[in-house]
Amino acid sequence: MSALIEAENVTRTYGVSRGAFRTPATVHAVAGASFSLEKGKTLAIVGESGCGKSTLARLITMIEPPSGGSLRIDGKEIATAGRSVLRDLRRTVQIVFQNPYGSLNPRQKIGTILEEPLVINTRLKAAERRARALDMLRRVGLRPEHYGRYPHMFSGGQRQRIAVARALMLQPKILVLDEPVSALDVSIQAQILNLLADLQDELGLTYVFISHDLSVVRFVADDVLVMYLGRPAEIAPVEAIFEAPQHPYTRALLSATPVADPDARREQIKLEGELPSPFNPPSGCPFHPRCPHARKVCVDVRPDLVDILIDERYRTPTRVTCHGIVEGWIEGAGRPVDALGHVSA
Ligand code: ADP
Ligand code: MG
Repeated sequence: MSALIEAENVTRTYGVSRGAFRTPATVHAVAGASFSLEKGKTLAIVGESGCGKSTLARLITMIEPPSGGSLRIDGKEIATAGRSVLRDLRRTVQIVFQNPYGSLNPRQKIGTILEEPLVINTRLKAAERRARALDMLRRVGLRPEHYGRYPHMFSGGQRQRIAVARALMLQPKILVLDEPVSALDVSIQAQILNLLADLQDELGLTYVFISHDLSVVRFVADDVLVMYLGRPAEIAPVEAIFEAPQHPYTRALLSATPVADPDARREQIKLEGELPSPFNPPSGCPFHPRCPHARKVCVDVRPDLVDILIDERYRTPTRVTCHGIVEGWIEGAGRPVDALGHVSA
């Protein structure tokens, strides 16, 4: 079983100058992300605005390189890949952005927009390009007559269908979806999510689905990566995230999410306080200033990502960065698993 994406301790920092008389600061936009993603599966990345989701999306799509760590895509380490390998890899991974209004050139017809990647990357003839564009329009639920129209003639949901079609023109293996339905009305969101699910089945696609909204993630994800201030808080199969959330931050996000099952018993945690500045992240566990369970160790020591066994029925253990869960003093904690797969007593 080989993963299509394998990230280990991936980081991305930005140097930001803050005026002539202040020293330049470093933002740790992504500060140690580890996850893997199998072919045909969906990894959802969730967290509040500014936690590093879009930065991670740009790293996975190779728009910019990581500052550190290991990122392997389709078996290749992108930091050391040569130019021709990178060129092929970039075709393998395509991205759809949140804003269906800004991402399509208003002066180009839909046919031109869809065929542009083919013009740049392939030697297909005009008739072949057109055939592929028409096929893709059909797959995303649009009609042949849409080929000659301009973006302003479409609704937000239709534009997002066009953006998906464009991303698929080069037959990628991986689609990175950065808040793909966040700008759409709730009634339209479900249609786009259904379309994405159908396309995934038909084309065997692998998705990285980015959202700040856990209720959306529930319907699309196989695994969920919860990010906080550039770091993973928790990574787990989607069922485990909703049934047995471990990290207090995940629990807080869930108590802010309306649930379909009103009987679900759930600890109510309010997220208090502002998200701290990524210029000056808190010591120890970055969540400690907002955490109702924080103890001294949380202020002093940065927690590692540890495998936790909750229940055998989940495909994989939950991975969590939380002293209280690992040491068992937070209610509902699973048990740590050591490197040999032994569960602690
Ligand atoms: P999200 O998508 O989760 O809202 P981002 O990945 O956009 O978060 O941003 C993470 C952090 O990195 C933010 O504090 C943001 O201001 C900072 N950041 C992102 N891109 C840049 C950049 N190009 N230069 C400087 N800072 C950046
Ligand atoms: Mg973003």
